[in-house]
Amino acid sequence: MDYQAIIDKVFEQIAPLRGVGKQADYIPALAEVNPDRCGIAMRTLNGSYYSTGDATVRFSLQSISKVFALAMAMHLEGDNLWTRMGKEPSGAAFNSLIQLELEHGIPRNPFINAGAIVLSDILVEHLPSPENRFIEFVRSLAKCPTINYNYGVALSEKKQAYLNTAIANLLKYHGNIRGDIDRVLQFYFLVCSIEMSCAELSQAFLPFADHQQRFDYDGVTLTSSHVKRMNAIMQTCGFYDEAGEFSFLVGLPGKSGVGGGIAALYPGRYAVAVWSPRLNPKGNSVVGMKALELLTTFTAESIF
Ligand code: GLU
Repeated sequence: MDYQAIIDKVFEQIAPLRGVGKQADYIPALAEVNPDRCGIAMRTLNGSYYSTGDATVRFSLQSISKVFALAMAMHLEGDNLWTRMGKEPSGAAFNSLIQLELEHGIPRNPFINAGAIVLSDILVEHLPSPENRFIEFVRSLAKCPTINYNYGVALSEKKQAYLNTAIANLLKYHGNIRGDIDRVLQFYFLVCSIEMSCAELSQAFLPFADHQQRFDYDGVTLTSSHVKRMNAIMQTCGFYDEAGEFSFLVGLPGKSGVGGGIAALYPGRYAVAVWSPRLNPKGNSVVGMKALELLTTFTAESIF
């Protein structure tokens, strides 16, 4: 399969969509990013790499980092994790308070904000130095020692964090946060602020495409059935209340973030990352969704 030629064709065909949508501005620092950026990178398990556009420009991962937080929480908690959150698609906005209230402080899944705030609580509780431990794990996944938090973005989010603070308070009220709310949120915002390029992100997702291989990165170990489950959750919950649409159009497990990135993978074959900051009303990158739809159409490869 000539993936480079296919990615080049995808890049050409998404051109008319590049001005469509609006970048996230509820985190003021994200509103300053050039919305016309666009990159694609793909990495295969047999070591090939293909890319186009702004594939080496770093951007804010935002919710994509929740995949790494879930991996670490699964390593630390095993199946106990599922006493504190569900594994069902939410069908509601990623920052919905209503659903969390109706469901008595048990987040629907680990990828909505409430679920990821509980993941953050777990990491803060277990790890003596969660910020250091987490970034080392992410660096080892991406095979890149310079990956880091963006403290300015985290601070910018914190200053406007009325909704996430309300979510954290509701979780605490229901006993589903054990630590101090400010401490847990501080860690959560940092996790969201990690920056990577598409080139780096495709590397960081590759381990999740490899069920057969033992997952052991910087001491974080997962069984192949854990990796399988992470893929299942990405498939059913990775795209806010548009997870069904992404499955329908693309047919790959993946995760999006309001920084405009999407990472997806084809189990046993490759991981791919797309970045374009303009979002649709559900919070997913307009170009990212289309690019991946075209990719699985042109390659005729998807999990379905
Ligand atoms: N830090 C963002 C928030 O908590 C992440 C949202 C996202 O990418 O879905 O709202």
